[in-house]
Amino acid sequence: MADLSVSELTLEKMECDFCGTLEAEPLIQELKVVSCTGCGVAHLEERLPDSALQQFYSEHYFNSDSSGEKGYCDYLRDKPLIKRTFHKRLKEIEKFIPSKGKALDIGCALGFFIEVARERGWSAEGLDISEYCIDHIKSEGFKGHLGLFQNLQSEENHYDLITMWDYIEHSTTPKQDIEKAYSLLKKDGILIMATPDFSSLPAKLFGNKWMGFKDHEHLYYFSKKDLNQCVESLGFELISNKFAGKYISFEFFANRLGLYFPLLSKFIDGFFKLTRLSNVKFYCNPWDIQLVIAKKR
Ligand SMILES: [Zn+2]
Repeated sequence: MADLSVSELTLEKMECDFCGTLEAEPLIQELKVVSCTGCGVAHLEERLPDSALQQFYSEHYFNSDSSGEKGYCDYLRDKPLIKRTFHKRLKEIEKFIPSKGKALDIGCALGFFIEVARERGWSAEGLDISEYCIDHIKSEGFKGHLGLFQNLQSEENHYDLITMWDYIEHSTTPKQDIEKAYSLLKKDGILIMATPDFSSLPAKLFGNKWMGFKDHEHLYYFSKKDLNQCVESLGFELISNKFAGKYISFEFFANRLGLYFPLLSKFIDGFFKLTRLSNVKFYCNPWDIQLVIAKKR
């Protein structure tokens, strides 16, 4: 599939999925981030049309040469680190679930969470809009659904766990997705969402440079309050909403630091290379990714 040229596309004005309002006030003009006049949720003013989304999340998205702006540098190469993070997170989540049953990962990318869940005794499957990803996970022998979550045909009260890792901010229908997750979960089933926290200190401190902003990609910017209110209004019991970290290498750390402090990042990157620390891994919690755990009543 040919790469997508965003500049040639006609963008669509975003309607707030939480309250249906089309009107919005400018919030961060340079980034075209607006605030819904109906409910106050922050979102991009315009988005890619649905017809372009599949091409946007092509193989190139997972091997991006400018991952600070779009996608991932080399997603497949980072598999061991990503899996390690998922193991740690799922172990925590399992405390809230009586038995390991059926899990569905929305926005499953290359299926690393599915792999981890299976290794931990779950029956797991995934859904993604990316054909590249679904082809990949099927080639690994996993069950994958291609398309939008809203179009998934599945029976109600079916899953014990639905996960949305770095997904909900990309969705054009976040509220409807949370509603759908509610209907597909069994009673006492758990919904997990990890997404940038727009009300976090790093978001305030770094302003327009905050790494939570990604044009065309991150459509909604949620505060903890926004998501907490949303899950509770849809009938979930909010178990917790805490900051989540992940395992990264010093090389990744220096790369991301470059978004905020380019000169310092170059110095640190040089130091890591000199001392051969670049590939050393550590657990880093930047205090700007919220992890929501909610239970279906
Ligand atoms: Zn709204």
